[in-house]
Amino acid sequence: MIRVLVFNEFQHEKDPNCRASTIYPEGIHTAIAGFLNKEADLTVKTCTLDDKNCGITEAVLKETDVLLWWGHMAHHRVPDEVAELVYREVNNGMGAVFLHSAHKSKPFMRLMGTDCSLIWRESDDLERIWTTTPSHPIASGLPPYFELPGEETYGEAFGIPTPEDIVFMGWFEGGEVFRSGCTWRRGHGRVFYFQPGHETYPTYYDENVQRVIRNAIRWAAPVYRVQNSMDCPNPPRVHHWGK
Ligand code: ZN
Repeated sequence: MIRVLVFNEFQHEKDPNCRASTIYPEGIHTAIAGFLNKEADLTVKTCTLDDKNCGITEAVLKETDVLLWWGHMAHHRVPDEVAELVYREVNNGMGAVFLHSAHKSKPFMRLMGTDCSLIWRESDDLERIWTTTPSHPIASGLPPYFELPGEETYGEAFGIPTPEDIVFMGWFEGGEVFRSGCTWRRGHGRVFYFQPGHETYPTYYDENVQRVIRNAIRWAAPVYRVQNSMDCPNPPRVHHWGK
């Protein structure tokens, strides 16, 4: 079983003046957990900004294989210590998937080491998402391209370190392009960023988006997890060539 933890700041959805409150009345995290819970190999928990310590402690992360992160308007309210815990546990082998405006979240910026800036506008553009690395596990089962009838436009230049793979490239009808699906390794952990998911569009109900997120979780699940980074066994030498 892959143990998934979905963090969502859960602020827009509680604002009755925001379209997010009707699209995701119980929060983006609940919508994401809803489709992940249909998978036999995943166990899913959620936490939000208003939980004590964001619901994230060292013990919680030790029991998490892959952390998903959605945040936007309240990145600054996530304690630095929480970002540091996530940073450390990814380096120890935990997987992390950062969604949409989580590009500016504290843990993502800490993991990237750059300012992760981009250009953006909200003009209801159609987005066409191209599968640029179809052989990548995160692209498994995805068509050559798929479309979202409306998304927030994100554009280059995206201030990230050069990704290990660019699995998806987004094109918007206004003409912008964006590296929409990128992978990195950090220490022993795997990191994926996926651009779609603005709170005023029903993006997380889209079947292709859901497939990408499921694939990303399985790809990011740890193969190896550091138990005690200070452990240096220094075994006695057993080979004696020519002696
Ligand atoms: Zn957005």
